[in-house]
Amino acid sequence: MAVVVKTYEPKFWDRFYLPAILKGLAITLTRIFVRKDTILYPEHKHVPAPGYRGLHRLNKHADGRIKCVACEMCATACPSNCITIEPSAAPWDDGEERYPIKFEINLLRCIYCGFCELACPKDAIELTEVYDFANYTRDSLVIDMDGLLEVYEVTSQGSIYTRQNAGQPVKVAQQL
Ligand code: SF4
Ligand code: SF4
Repeated sequence: MAVVVKTYEPKFWDRFYLPAILKGLAITLTRIFVRKDTILYPEHKHVPAPGYRGLHRLNKHADGRIKCVACEMCATACPSNCITIEPSAAPWDDGEERYPIKFEINLLRCIYCGFCELACPKDAIELTEVYDFANYTRDSLVIDMDGLLEVYEVTSQGSIYTRQNAGQPVKVAQQL
């Protein structure tokens, strides 16, 4: 069935433009008093909802020792094959026989699925709320063990974005 599309025919008042301009200004004025859905990033940071999966961290025990026992279950569960672990004999004598001497995650290959976190039997790897990490080279987005432990230091003190919004500068992982 054919559809007839009528062309726009301006009415009498449309030819003066002023009513349309006033109508547009009235809409703008009403929006001034409505709560904004946008934020002024990067001065104001979005605070992700609990459970958001961002930059990884390696957790520590209360005594400062790394929780990871280099079992490589996270690397096995990782669908992107972006975790590299080099285990070594642990220097401490408390039943944990291994610890990592190298732990790297390629952040460009990661799909932030959280499987590594779910697979870990020691609560050692965790995805944090941190979403705004970027750099200029691909190599600089391979985070190493020092970087992962540094992310733990800054994210274990509460939301970094809440702190940044309160005016406290927080830098996540020096290498990023
Ligand atoms: S979040 Fe997923 S893709 Fe990223 S390192 Fe963990 S298991 Fe691999
Ligand atoms: S982070 Fe967890 S799963 Fe991965 S090697 Fe360490 S202890 Fe094993």
